[in-house]
Amino acid sequence: MAKTEATQETNLLKDIIAHAKEYGFVYPSSEIYDGLQAVYDYGPYGTELKNNLKRLWWESMTRLHENIVGVDAAIFMHPTTWKASGHVDSFNDPMVDNKDSKKRYRADVLIEDKAAQYEQAGDLAKAKALLEEMGKLLDAEDLKTLRELMIREEITCPLSGTANWTEIRQFNLMFSTQVGSVADDSSTIYLRPETAQGIFVNFLNVQKTARMKVPFGIAQIGKAFRNEIVARQFIFRMREFEQMEMQYFVRPGTELEYYKEWADKRMKWHRALGIPSEKLRRHDHDKLAHYANAALDIEYEFPFGNKEVEGIHSRTDFDLMAHQKYSKKKQQYFDPEVNQNYVPYVIETSIGADRLFLMMLCNAYTEEELGGKKRVYLKFPPALAPVKAAILPLVKKDGLPDKAREIVANLKYDFNIIYEEAASIGKRYTRQDLIGTPYCIAVDHQTIEDDTVTIRHRDTTEQERVPITELHGRLSEACSFKRVFEAMG
Ligand code: ATP
Repeated sequence: MAKTEATQETNLLKDIIAHAKEYGFVYPSSEIYDGLQAVYDYGPYGTELKNNLKRLWWESMTRLHENIVGVDAAIFMHPTTWKASGHVDSFNDPMVDNKDSKKRYRADVLIEDKAAQYEQAGDLAKAKALLEEMGKLLDAEDLKTLRELMIREEITCPLSGTANWTEIRQFNLMFSTQVGSVADDSSTIYLRPETAQGIFVNFLNVQKTARMKVPFGIAQIGKAFRNEIVARQFIFRMREFEQMEMQYFVRPGTELEYYKEWADKRMKWHRALGIPSEKLRRHDHDKLAHYANAALDIEYEFPFGNKEVEGIHSRTDFDLMAHQKYSKKKQQYFDPEVNQNYVPYVIETSIGADRLFLMMLCNAYTEEELGGKKRVYLKFPPALAPVKAAILPLVKKDGLPDKAREIVANLKYDFNIIYEEAASIGKRYTRQDLIGTPYCIAVDHQTIEDDTVTIRHRDTTEQERVPITELHGRLSEACSFKRVFEAMG
């Protein structure tokens, strides 16, 4: 990317962050105390948007698939869970400090950035070789040579411009706390770093109580916590975030078939949300985690580059086997079709609700010239927009507010509606554009005479006259999840 282009992109992210704060989507956490790094709060419209996204994900998993059911496991889990999953021993990131700027970085991210520079310069072979070398050193936990690699590649701190690096150290990303009043080692528990383990430990509970037959899936939405070394890029990398994960349990040997199926399905899901194909990228992993036999990321072209929004992993039987070993309880399923007991293999789809939110916000943020003036609006698909319609009486008199209130009363049980009577109609339209409301419904003097209103469409700013009796049907049609589901194919 050329330098001016890169600056424009960074400015775009800044504009989006400022917009999110100004118009009630996302605020820094505990802002009156100057915030807490990498922790954010969602405002009124942000909460609505996030809830819509979570509901869409939940329903597309559990309602569109007869063989997927949900759970809501606790954030705290028995500490042995994290021993079995490998998080206690190896959920680490390599951390390095620049001695001049005193800034801390993830060594692997610095090296990946360098590889991306080679890639952008067209030297794909060099980029690949660098990533491979890093992968080998990380696997061997050879942090000394990893540091030498950074020096050899002339990786410098963006702030100080020097390569005056400390030793690289491993840093465990789990937050720990104590249960009960006596603080000793045995009372240490963790805030879950992923929601998946709450699904694995409940595998047999769910299979038996919901009478599921392999293949079947368990879906969950919930908070996860990671003590990220470098928190960057707004809500892209947070220390407290929300995951939406689905584990699909399959017969051993069939996993790659289902992996392919889920990779295709999830890609279609993102497109059905209105994300253009050219902004989405499938990134197959060359280097696999120890528990996976296939893995890919679905990436979106954020203003700061192509980055992961969702991961799809074929996790083999690693997790269930580990829990079987540590708990000494069999995690087997009897498959009547093949008359056999086995520990199922697992395909995982894992998406961050906050990253999905950021993708939707970046994709919706639109700046346009209209009549010589800049117009900013959020182009959310109506089904996901925080507010579906604003009901606006033209003036505060002549019975127009009462008529408008009647319309609100008729729509509010099925749609998130705003009623607003202050300021000029033009200003009120602008305000709704800024929060992404797809329809503004104006009540004027003609409404009193013939029970019609004008609908103003956000994206085109076109207006049309329609009978009040048609409003409910029109909104239902435009804002229903069914449309999005159908686009998923
Ligand atoms: P990254 O490489 O960006 O750190 P990851 O590969 O560690 O991500 P996973 O462990 O696969 O991520 O987690 C699954 C999903 O959870 C990610 O695709 C992302 O959407 C979300 N996620 C992970 N870490 C964070 C975070 N710190 N903040 C927000 N979302 C996150």
